[in-house]
Amino acid sequence: MCIDGSGADKVKSVDTRDVSGQDKKTCCNYLHVPMNLEEKDKRFLWHPFTQMTDWEADEVLVIERGEGPYLFDTQGRRYLDGVSSLWVNLHGHRHPDLDRAVREQLDRIAHSTLLGLANTPSIELAEQLVRIAPENLTRVFYSDNGSTAVEVALKMAFTYWQQKENGAGTRTRILAYANAYHGDTLGSVSVGGIDLFHSRYRPLLFETLRADYPYCYRCPLGLSYPDCRMKCLESTERLLSEKSGSVGAVIIEPRVQGAGGIIVAPEGFLRGVRDLCRKYRTLLIADEVAVGFGRTGTMFACQAEGVSPDFLCLAKGITGGYLPLAATLTTDEVYRAFLGRHEQFRTFFHGHSYTGNPLACAAALANIEIFEKERVIEGLPAKVEALKKGLAPFADLPVVGDIRQAGLIAGVELVQDTNAREPIRPEMIFGNRVCRLARNRGILIRPLGDVLVIMPPLCCTEKQIHQICEGTLESLKEAMTVVAWRG
Ligand code: PMP
Repeated sequence: MCIDGSGADKVKSVDTRDVSGQDKKTCCNYLHVPMNLEEKDKRFLWHPFTQMTDWEADEVLVIERGEGPYLFDTQGRRYLDGVSSLWVNLHGHRHPDLDRAVREQLDRIAHSTLLGLANTPSIELAEQLVRIAPENLTRVFYSDNGSTAVEVALKMAFTYWQQKENGAGTRTRILAYANAYHGDTLGSVSVGGIDLFHSRYRPLLFETLRADYPYCYRCPLGLSYPDCRMKCLESTERLLSEKSGSVGAVIIEPRVQGAGGIIVAPEGFLRGVRDLCRKYRTLLIADEVAVGFGRTGTMFACQAEGVSPDFLCLAKGITGGYLPLAATLTTDEVYRAFLGRHEQFRTFFHGHSYTGNPLACAAALANIEIFEKERVIEGLPAKVEALKKGLAPFADLPVVGDIRQAGLIAGVELVQDTNAREPIRPEMIFGNRVCRLARNRGILIRPLGDVLVIMPPLCCTEKQIHQICEGTLESLKEAMTVVAWRG
């Protein structure tokens, strides 16, 4: 028995919702009743984008190590990392070159600031990023994650127009797209367009102009591609012309809207947006946080359509999935608007404690080297084809509404009724159910609502890609029998 008279078993079960939890913890410590990792997780952590009620009720999978595209849990079970550890990992876990780069940097210094000082890896990385980025992007500003890369671009664009117009600052609006996702900080939430995640924060956000994105499966105009001739592009033009002179920037997820449900835009949409930005003299922010670094088949998604944006936001894969780092690249034209005498205060007043962190920059340099050394981009077409083949059998299931793919990014949209394209009732938690079953087959994937996402590390072999697809397909079939699916 515990000192407070409660049973030790009760203590071990750790009821996190109980207000007396603190006492129990003390009691646990006092008696040295060990909590295992799962219990500690449930007791102390709050997981992102996670309904913790479900989490507490389920078995927690604790990852202990990784190797290539595999993750291993504390029980020694092996899983294929089917979403690249949330879209970040490119060349696999424990890649020797990345490991070495971080270790060697650690032997020099882990961190020093970029405020008032420079450091070696951040300089070398900036040079490499400028080299591989679309043309005209000549300046690199570092931050820590995708959301801050977007914040930086938004603030730079806003300030650019103020300083360019000598303080007139009339171009204060941002145009963003329906269904967009640009991160979770309030600026990036302001430009986000997913009601479930964003609408409740509206009172805290700045107003944004909202244009249609080509979600062809659920076309906002009720048209079908290609007969529509991308009529949805007209809403961008209408807003830019109606608000002529007041739009400072357009922000877009090039080629694929990620968190919105892997929505793949038809070829030419991005190019069309670029042309409209030129026509109406506004800046283009390309948020390549999810699609950058080879995911869609080219190093950057913009390059597939010959687009050079005014800002390029990078994060996630920038370090090969090793360490948090982000970069916002921009042009000389933007950069020059911030130059001036000290007392003019044209400085970009923005920066983070870990900006340009040397360890992360060293990993990012190794990441770029691996792309070249292992000819990663050249190897992608066969893998993209393998993914396409692996996705094809999904089309036979009555629950599959749409299959979307761009490079090594895929989304399978599940629906209640394929004719009516009716979504599945949220209380069925169907997407989650499928992914949970995939775990038993050694596949780790995470859905976006009822869109199954497959985004394997670029290093996956064709066979491994096939295994991920097959495991997901079998799990989907199993989930359908579990809920006695009626077609
Ligand atoms: N932009 C896009 C397009 C993203 O997909 C994400 C994250 N999924 C972000 C920004 C935010 O990145 P982070 O989670 O690193 O803040």
